[in-house]
Amino acid sequence: MKVSGKCPKCGSTDIKENMMGGMGNIMSGRYYRCGSCGFTEIWQSKSDVKAIYALYTILLGCGLGLLGYFFFVA
Ligand SMILES: [Zn+2]
Repeated sequence: MKVSGKCPKCGSTDIKENMMGGMGNIMSGRYYRCGSCGFTEIWQSKSDVKAIYALYTILLGCGLGLLGYFFFVA
């Protein structure tokens, strides 16, 4: 569907890429929805997975930094 740009169910080329943005979108990947029959496919590309790992690494780094800060200050 993503590659062919065609709905596997009804053959329509009216495919809409649904990118809602924000955290939820990064976690769940991208939605491709057929405008004719409503068939939906969820794709998660490798770049998205990398982005998730990068996000977790940053969050973990920030969390540990903050924890260390409070540990030494308090
Ligand atoms: Zn369709």
